[in-house]
Amino acid sequence: MITEYQHPLDIFMDVFTQGGTLVQQCGFCGRTHFATHNTESYYEPGELEKLREGLKQQPDKFVPQDCSWISSGQLAGRVAVWGCPCVPEKVSPYMAFIIDHRVEILDFLKQKAAAELSAAKTEIARLEGV
Ligand SMILES: [Zn+2]
Repeated sequence: MITEYQHPLDIFMDVFTQGGTLVQQCGFCGRTHFATHNTESYYEPGELEKLREGLKQQPDKFVPQDCSWISSGQLAGRVAVWGCPCVPEKVSPYMAFIIDHRVEILDFLKQKAAAELSAAKTEIARLEGV
């Protein structure tokens, strides 16, 4: 629910969020994100230390997030990790496509629903005729 103005990308991420986990690799850039806010007890022994060591060794490949869960969503078969530095560049085109083509998308969804309703009615009539 939108209670105050949000950036469109924030709204997009809210709508497309499909889950959260302690560790998630971004499917768009390969960075590994890990939750660090009061999460120590949820990791397997040594797992968080390994992630922190990875961060020291490859700071461009690991992203600690000060949260309990790493939120993400699926876009075109890839996991987009919300909060990943690549999101504005990589995810914005999907949002822009939807906004730019909202009339066509709405028309498509209406026609698709009408076709499915028609097919369902035909199937019901066939079944009732048996
Ligand atoms: Zn990324």
